[in-house]
Amino acid sequence: DPIIRIQGVHKNYGALRALDNVSLDVARGEKVVIIGPSGSGKSTLLRSMNRLETIDGGSIIVDGLDVNDRSNNINAIRQELGMVFQSFNLFPHKTVLENLTMAPMRLKRVPKHEAEQTAMELLTKVGIPNKAGVYPAMLSGGQQQRVAIARALAMKPKIMLFDEPTSALDPEMIGEVLDVMVTLAREGMTMVVVTHEMGFAREVADRVVFMDAGRILEIGTPEHFFQSP
Ligand code: ADP
Ligand code: ADP
Repeated sequence: DPIIRIQGVHKNYGALRALDNVSLDVARGEKVVIIGPSGSGKSTLLRSMNRLETIDGGSIIVDGLDVNDRSNNINAIRQELGMVFQSFNLFPHKTVLENLTMAPMRLKRVPKHEAEQTAMELLTKVGIPNKAGVYPAMLSGGQQQRVAIARALAMKPKIMLFDEPTSALDPEMIGEVLDVMVTLAREGMTMVVVTHEMGFAREVADRVVFMDAGRILEIGTPEHFFQSP
């Protein structure tokens, strides 16, 4: 069974068709990269997967649960989907460690010592174990985004969604964030990534999805999209 099953999804903003009959299955462990011009619906599709947007038609099933069925607990579904945004969205008045421990302690009732141990392991994994005690404003954009990835991972999601995770970064910081994502991919995480980083797509994607004007126009392997030299 696919871990994500998207079937015939429609989403309108007034008269605008942001998603027009979109269907896509994502297998467990698969890495799907979504590309396409600005305004083509990539972000709307990603945000629909954890119901940050509600859809107007079709269905989205995540790990067997219908995201839009009101009788399903949306918080349980969201805990399976870690999400990383273009703007890092860290809590500015919390330390890095607190940013990582807050949700597991509150939403999953993980004991503090355990949440902190997991947080330290994740900060080590993303290469900034020495930043646990500082506030987000003290960090570079690349470091903040690595904290945002670690924070999403702290909930132990089955799937990671990335919405243009490097688009707000200075060029010299893009590599350090992509490196973390490549590591995650190699560990077997299921990933859906909206990005303009074609090198990442070529290296990591099992499949590339090309969207335009709210539709999926093409799905193929990286080899199909990016001719080898
Ligand atoms: P992409 O991620 O490919 O840039 P989006 O999913 O952000 O595209 O947007 C798809 C279309 O929907 C765009 O035309 C955008 O302006 C529009 N849109 C997105 N969010 C909203 C909203 N909250 N209200 C109205 N229009 C929106
Ligand atoms: P991103 O490309 O990271 O989604 P945007 O600047 O396109 O960032 O969108 C930021 C927010 O504004 C999102 O919540 C999106 O839904 C909303 N938005 C995008 N386009 C429109 C629009 N045309 N009208 C109203 N809201 C929009």
